[in-house]
Amino acid sequence: MARKKIVAGNWKMNTLPAEGVELAKSVVAGRGEVCECVNFIVCPPFTHLAQVIEQVKGSDIAVGAQDCATEAKGAYTGEVAASMIAALGCKYVILGHSERRQYYGETSESLNKKMAQAYANGLTPIYCVGENLEEREAGNHFAVCKAQIEEVVYNLTEEQFASLVIAYEPVWAIGTGKTATAEQAQEIHAYIREVLRAKFGAAAEECPILYGGSCKPSNAAEIFAKEDVDGGLIGGAALKAEDFLAIGKGF
Ligand code: PEP
Repeated sequence: MARKKIVAGNWKMNTLPAEGVELAKSVVAGRGEVCECVNFIVCPPFTHLAQVIEQVKGSDIAVGAQDCATEAKGAYTGEVAASMIAALGCKYVILGHSERRQYYGETSESLNKKMAQAYANGLTPIYCVGENLEEREAGNHFAVCKAQIEEVVYNLTEEQFASLVIAYEPVWAIGTGKTATAEQAQEIHAYIREVLRAKFGAAAEECPILYGGSCKPSNAAEIFAKEDVDGGLIGGAALKAEDFLAIGKGF
């Protein structure tokens, strides 16, 4: 069975509500030019999730949040619960993005709680893993990704794992203009799948593993052509509908 092909846009802390709505509108308008086999997901800031969901209604474009709270509800000022995100109509939530790990102290412990919240509310996590430059240069990238998977993904049930999406995002390639080569991406994606296989067996073959890190229209096709690369998690290039859609044409 062929794995799902996914192109997900992580808008990060960009776009005001009106700009986000315009961006979503343009993605919907151009979507028909890209193979139906590509599953597009947009992940705007919390503030305009509802408006973007409204805007993509009637299309096959799904919407995701960029994070969720570790707790279900209560006295957690500033947090946004998975149930709130799900109630809006979101289908996905990005968890463990390197910017959350690096700037906001995200750990495997908090991510285990967030994963549980996501699944309890019917959201599909897009779980991010990846090494920083120092770790890559020391040859520790395999060990880093393995630990990030073992400490979190290994705690999922088989049923939960069946809907998981993983994004491999080398931190040194995020927003830097440096992209992993297609060979580097394939090498580590195949390794990640092997780590998943060790726990979940044949179900690992069905798990979409996305590449993220300065992916753009000019390099997407080469990267997506690799056997274990099932699409991309796109930052900067997701902020222009034309580029985001062109990346989808990379399949
Ligand atoms: C990201 O942060 O998820 C990302 C891949 O960013 P960029 O495409 O801008 O490198």
